[in-house]
Amino acid sequence: MWAVGFEKHGDPGVLKVMELPDPRPGPREVIIRVLATSLNRIDTIVRRGYPGIPVKLPHVPGADIVGYIESVGPDTDLGEFRVGDLVLVSNVWGCGSCRFCRVGMEDHCQSWTMPGFHVWGGYGELVRVPVRALVRAPKEMTINELAVLPLAYGVSWKALRVANVGSGDWVLVLGGSGGVGTALTILAKALGARVIAVTTRPSLLKSLGADVVVGYDREELMNAVNENTEGGVDVAIDSIGDTLPMALDAIRPGGTVVTFGVLGRSSTLQIDIRKFYLRHTRLIGIHNAAKSYLREAIEFMVSRGVKPFISRVATVKEAPSLHELMESRGVVGKVVMIHEWD
Ligand SMILES: [Zn+2]
Repeated sequence: MWAVGFEKHGDPGVLKVMELPDPRPGPREVIIRVLATSLNRIDTIVRRGYPGIPVKLPHVPGADIVGYIESVGPDTDLGEFRVGDLVLVSNVWGCGSCRFCRVGMEDHCQSWTMPGFHVWGGYGELVRVPVRALVRAPKEMTINELAVLPLAYGVSWKALRVANVGSGDWVLVLGGSGGVGTALTILAKALGARVIAVTTRPSLLKSLGADVVVGYDREELMNAVNENTEGGVDVAIDSIGDTLPMALDAIRPGGTVVTFGVLGRSSTLQIDIRKFYLRHTRLIGIHNAAKSYLREAIEFMVSRGVKPFISRVATVKEAPSLHELMESRGVVGKVVMIHEWD
């Protein structure tokens, strides 16, 4: 198969078009012929080498996968699916047997697997995945729309759900213009919430429905919070890491802070614990969404006619320049990469 992968870690230039052996499905597995994937920050982190988690080289990135079921492994019950079905692949699957996996909480499994990270992912023409990671693709959405959903829209939906965001709530989104930030804003607005977005791209976030837009400045943010809310935002969602203190400042008593992801170099922060308990703050950590959240996000988006924000459609072969763009913070919203090899 053709794939864009890398044989050594490093700058975007290590990404090459390569011919790799076709993956073969094992028991309870299928091969997906990938139609499209999308660019995620994790792709660039895996390419550079994720601290403490080595990958076998050569490696094929790509956490998002949409494509057709091409073939089926031995002793495999496809369940509701058939060969040739258009499917999405959940961007995290668990061991399949632990106490969490048994009840559909595979995002809590401590032996989780992410395509494009622990195994070859969506930058390849073919990808091998377990049947339990498959999600039916709704006919109401295009291939490009589907390709951006699993990681960014799955985890954004999960963040809003674990914080129980509802109509009229004030939601603070820290890191507004990327794939996750735009997804959070779009989904929060569709849930009837009001959004304060912290971003360097105010006009984009306004166009996506954010009610208030501020820059990365504590004073500016607190002025906006004090002017617009009654004593703080109900929910603050932070996917940057070192902005967590801003989230804690902006939250109302009894509010919920959801944290996932670290964009900066350090994952260590110094925080005054009194900020939590004196204000009854709930702090929830999450990472990738279980399949149930992705399914729910898709159902919600289809039923409300909600569309993801796609800023560009490229091919997988353009991955090196797209990685460069992402690392220079030049990517807004989601970038689709379709599989075109001629
Ligand atoms: Zn498990």
